[in-house]
Amino acid sequence: MAARGVDSLLLSVGPDLPWLCGYEAMPLERLTMLVVSVDGEATLVVPRLEASRVTEHPDLFAMRPWEETEDPIDILAGLVGNATAVSIGDRTWSRFTVDLLAAMPRATAQNASHVTGPLRARKDPHEIAALHAAGAAVDRIVEQLHSGSIPLVGRTEAQVSAEIGSRILAEGHHRVNFAIVAAGANAASPHHEAGERVIGRDEVVLCDFGGTMLDDFGVGYCSDITRCVWTGEIPAEAGEIYEVLSQAHRAAFDAVSTGVSCESVDLAARRVITDAGYGEFFIHRTGHGIGVDAHEDPYIVSGNTETLAVGHCFSIEPGIYLPDRYGYRLEDCLAASVDGPDSFTSSNRALVSIDA
Ligand code: ZN
Ligand code: ZN
Ligand code: ZN
Repeated sequence: MAARGVDSLLLSVGPDLPWLCGYEAMPLERLTMLVVSVDGEATLVVPRLEASRVTEHPDLFAMRPWEETEDPIDILAGLVGNATAVSIGDRTWSRFTVDLLAAMPRATAQNASHVTGPLRARKDPHEIAALHAAGAAVDRIVEQLHSGSIPLVGRTEAQVSAEIGSRILAEGHHRVNFAIVAAGANAASPHHEAGERVIGRDEVVLCDFGGTMLDDFGVGYCSDITRCVWTGEIPAEAGEIYEVLSQAHRAAFDAVSTGVSCESVDLAARRVITDAGYGEFFIHRTGHGIGVDAHEDPYIVSGNTETLAVGHCFSIEPGIYLPDRYGYRLEDCLAASVDGPDSFTSSNRALVSIDA
């Protein structure tokens, strides 16, 4: 904060708050906000009726429960005092931000990610262990998918998505973040919403899913994995295109090393797909950071010249999407380490033909 000229950091809903103090604000109309001042004082302003949800750490932060008849904006303005530069959590609701800024007319504001982003991006060994635990859980679901124990043919995408969601919880996650199930031509839409389409024989089913698993301090870390399966015998062309994708995924993994730029990892995957003639069908970046948030810094994208360092955790997820036909994505998340990529997931990365 001092290096960035920030007097006060104000965190509400979103992942910065639980990452710092283990408590996740309820996304409701009553304001919860942690005020961290540059001198190290921290106070959690929380609705009285939600205060009992907080695991207190008096050595880390003070509690300031507010009553129904109080105005939390006044309390916050008092705590911020004469701060002239505040950093506000990126996802704080504007109904609070607008009032807060009006209550501190002398202060300039910036997003809290300017302070927390670089800190959150590099994980310590405890966080990497938590990401491995979440990854191992989704790996087990991929094994269930590959073994045919999740029925596909004859069910709707939405039914399969719901089943994957319940398995995400059964495997130890606290919350399901998403379970994309896209069959046939729907797989050509990277963020397809699982719907009423019935899965048939002889088509691709793209499954991209993940959840949040709590560590022993109650802080949630995310999993995220994508695998594609084929319901029947894989046609030659579909197998060849998948092989291109699989080589692109491997090339990006091989490019991961400390000191290389994020964009060079993107380029490693993109070059393989472009050289094979499918460049125009790889329509998104190669990856995103992962941690307490499912998508965070660093982004593995052209133009990001930031260099990788030990503890940077992110996805490698190249895709090839053929409109009106089918699409593929292959995704694993990893940590950059001195020994190269340390993958959180390692379940079979092939296009598996399944009879389910
Ligand atoms: Zn995505
Ligand atoms: Zn992802
Ligand atoms: Zn994903």
